Amino acid sequence: MLELPEITTLCRQLQSSVADKTIRQVSVLSSPHKFAFFNRPAEDYPRLLVGRTLKQFHACGNYAILNLGNDLSLVLGDMGGRLLYHPAGEVLPQKHQLLIQFEDQTSLTLTLQMWGAILLLNPSQLASHSRLSHLSPAPLDDAFTLEHFQQRVNSIPLHEQRSLKFFIISQFGLPGVGNGCLHDILFNARLHPKFPLADLTPALQLNLWQAARATLRQMTDAGGRSSEHDLFDLPGGYVPTLSNDKVGSPCPVCGTPIERIIYLGGASFFCPHDQAI
Ligand SMILES: [Zn+2]
Repeated sequence: MLELPEITTLCRQLQSSVADKTIRQVSVLSSPHKFAFFNRPAEDYPRLLVGRTLKQFHACGNYAILNLGNDLSLVLGDMGGRLLYHPAGEVLPQKHQLLIQFEDQTSLTLTLQMWGAILLLNPSQLASHSRLSHLSPAPLDDAFTLEHFQQRVNSIPLHEQRSLKFFIISQFGLPGVGNGCLHDILFNARLHPKFPLADLTPALQLNLWQAARATLRQMTDAGGRSSEHDLFDLPGGYVPTLSNDKVGSPCPVCGTPIERIIYLGGASFFCPHDQAI
């Protein structure tokens, strides 16, 4: 799935590749996809997009906001797959759920894996959208201060007995971070995915906040994680410390073999020595 570092990279690349280009043709769902979520009928997408110009692009957690002017944004997010730019004349992928062709014959395609949302939102819908409204500020924004992070920690009632993994991948803790970036953030904070949120002392909160910001900065500066692809179909430059293919390999810090558990609907990787619960 594309998370904050990859979405931020895509937005930066969109800004330099397709900003100010006028849309000539749009098609959605040329390949049907059960888990492609639209907020409007398919025919509305060409009707509302053709003739318009993409202006600005910014990441909102794990969503990319493609601004089309004062009254409309195309919002792509909560998604796995590839958003690709195609120079004029390039053969397009066979399967895609969104195709945008520009006047200069260049195009964008979005091919989803797993699931994803393709939304057209006006400014008030954008401001009030249930998935988007709690994604700001993002962990790399100046507004994501330690105090802000602590407010997020304290917003979870103690009696709920939540773990760090729940807190983070539910988007309550670190907007834009899912079960991908999570592993290295917790490794760098030396915290176990099952560590109880209620036991996170102020010192550990500082520790996690610093580790999250530093890790996400590193991932974003490298153009995303190597398991995902950018707008030009190149893998990101950040090779995760913990991932499926590192299971059983020695921890780079202490040498203990990396372990894997299935927890909260997905795999978690950790060093049982450095991230003891
Ligand atoms: Zn270790």
